[in-house]
Amino acid sequence: MGSVGAKDVPELLDAHGKRIDGRGLHDLRPLKIEAGVLQRATGSAFVEWGENKVMAAVYGPREVHPRHMQQNTKAVVQCRYNMASFSVDERKRPGLDRRSQEISKVIGEALESVLFVEEFPKTSIGIYIEVLQANAGTRCAGLVAASVALADAGIPMSDLVPAVAVGKIAGKLALDLRKEEDNYGESDVPMALVPRSGRLVLLQMEGHMTRDELKTAMDMGVKGCEKIYEIQKAALRNRYSLGGNGGGEAQ
Ligand code: UDP
Repeated sequence: MGSVGAKDVPELLDAHGKRIDGRGLHDLRPLKIEAGVLQRATGSAFVEWGENKVMAAVYGPREVHPRHMQQNTKAVVQCRYNMASFSVDERKRPGLDRRSQEISKVIGEALESVLFVEEFPKTSIGIYIEVLQANAGTRCAGLVAASVALADAGIPMSDLVPAVAVGKIAGKLALDLRKEEDNYGESDVPMALVPRSGRLVLLQMEGHMTRDELKTAMDMGVKGCEKIYEIQKAALRNRYSLGGNGGGEAQ
């Protein structure tokens, strides 16, 4: 979040309470998920969420490289989130920076919590997330794509992991922030839910909100995750039903 002169700040909410893209405070951006889009990965999924485009590929369980990372009692989950240079307005330097390392870590940990890793000792489950076009919320889009890709790979897991960010813009809580809202809003709280258990497996916060606001934000996020969960399941159903094209779609 950068500090800018007041005249540079776009109006995030209009007089009717509508957002820049016409959404209400509780609306998700349009979300489309396609499962099984890559031939050479064990499982894959492509997510278009607003202006985000994210591909996830899963390999394994397979041999661990480097070998010394191997664990005798469980599979190691190796997750890499990468943002393409051309995915953002200002060309991003290629390679793993601190932000990508942090996001790879939190996504990997969230997904490991639903994988039955003990069933696959001495192996690796590789999760690769490539952000091809970014417009805020890419860690959530990556998680949504990767959990569908893991299910597409047939890797035993207890649940899918829907994720969404809730933020505060012009003093109001709003679901699923887009770029301008993330840049000029007061806060951004990405979260990921395991719907069957009700556990949150990712919760981060940038900026400020009160305890009461945070509570409301979490309720809004959980409701958003429940909608996303249905779209994830629809994508898998379409992929595995006869004649299905692998897609799940919102709105
Ligand atoms: N972003 C960018 N350049 C970067 C990193 C991020 O333009 O090097 C943009 C991109 O649109 C991203 C947004 O800033 O989606 C918000 O980034 P953040 O770190 O909050 O993660 P995200 O919301 O994507 O999970």
